[in-house]
Amino acid sequence: MSIISKRTRKSTSFGAPSKQSTISHRKTKSDDLVDPRRSALMARVRQRNSAPELEVRRILRGLNVSFGLHRKSLPGTPDITVPKLRYAIFIHGCFWHRHENCSKATTPKTRVAFWQSKFERNVARDARNIASLRKLGWKVIVIWECECRSMDKLTRRLARCLCSVDSSARKIPMR
Ligand SMILES: [Zn+2]
Repeated sequence: MSIISKRTRKSTSFGAPSKQSTISHRKTKSDDLVDPRRSALMARVRQRNSAPELEVRRILRGLNVSFGLHRKSLPGTPDITVPKLRYAIFIHGCFWHRHENCSKATTPKTRVAFWQSKFERNVARDARNIASLRKLGWKVIVIWECECRSMDKLTRRLARCLCSVDSSARKIPMR
């Protein structure tokens, strides 16, 4: 049983792993071995259809923006794409993607080197994906998990980016 598959069943799956799964995590044989299947799972840090992602989709529907989901043909498989305006949107978990100066971007107290190298790879991969998307002519919006706490602010931000063309869609829906 991997940490990931346990975690994906929980609704709080988007954030940092729970205390049980990492911090007081009992050492088993699999912790020390690099199982390729396990590392492949660990590499898929982004969750599909997370609660913040569903919130963002709700905002976009409210703004009458048509969008697509998880377009695999694009670098990094953006969570949401707005093809008409060539916007790619990533909704990043603050822990996994290392939101700077964010209280959610903690580092587990055990296996520090493991986590640090994992985080570095995640950040490097994100930067590569964003650069590749820009090269392909896409504009990129990164929304952090913690920003989804303030839906009004997030709605205004998305409206500014996505609704400047169509002024009829400017009406900002309230919750
Ligand atoms: Zn954050």
